[in-house]
Amino acid sequence: MINLYFFIDCGTFDHIIIGAGAAGAVAANRLSEDSVRQILLVEADSPETNFADIPAMLSFLQELEYNWNYETLPQANACLGLVGNKCKYHSGK
Ligand SMILES: Cc1cc2nc3c(=O)[nH]c(=O)nc-3n(C[C@H](O)[C@H](O)[C@H](O)COP(=O)(O)OP(=O)(O)OC[C@H]3O[C@@H](n4cnc5c(N)ncnc54)[C@H](O)[C@@H]3O)c2cc1C
Repeated sequence: MINLYFFIDCGTFDHIIIGAGAAGAVAANRLSEDSVRQILLVEADSPETNFADIPAMLSFLQELEYNWNYETLPQANACLGLVGNKCKYHSGK
């Protein structure tokens, strides 16, 4: 599916930050202290629901679009009960 966000004219910006993770969110916050600056903070995929803010729900969020769904390489001495001896390695969008 084509993401139409790319075709919307969002204006011009002084700073464009790709990735609203730990570093990107802090950088955007600090830069926005100067209200004159126009800042665009870009994050992958679509906004998550409130459900994703509940830490105990982590196990239900696996393999959804909020997760990059990385996995480890096959492990010789770990992840032994998992398919291909590979553990999930969560990284959020
Ligand atoms: C499972 C797990 C548990 C962790 N627990 C802890 C902990 O308890 N304490 C701790 O201090 N650290 C923890 N960490 C480490 C911490 O999360 C990272 O060190 C930190 O998030 C790195 O910050 P970052 O800004 O470099 O990257 P990230 O926070 O990963 O941010 C990168 C952002 O860029 C986005 N992005 C990537 N590609 C694109 C693209 N093409 N377009 C748009 N956006 C994109 C990603 O979606 C992501 O939001 C944990 C990490 C993991 C994976």
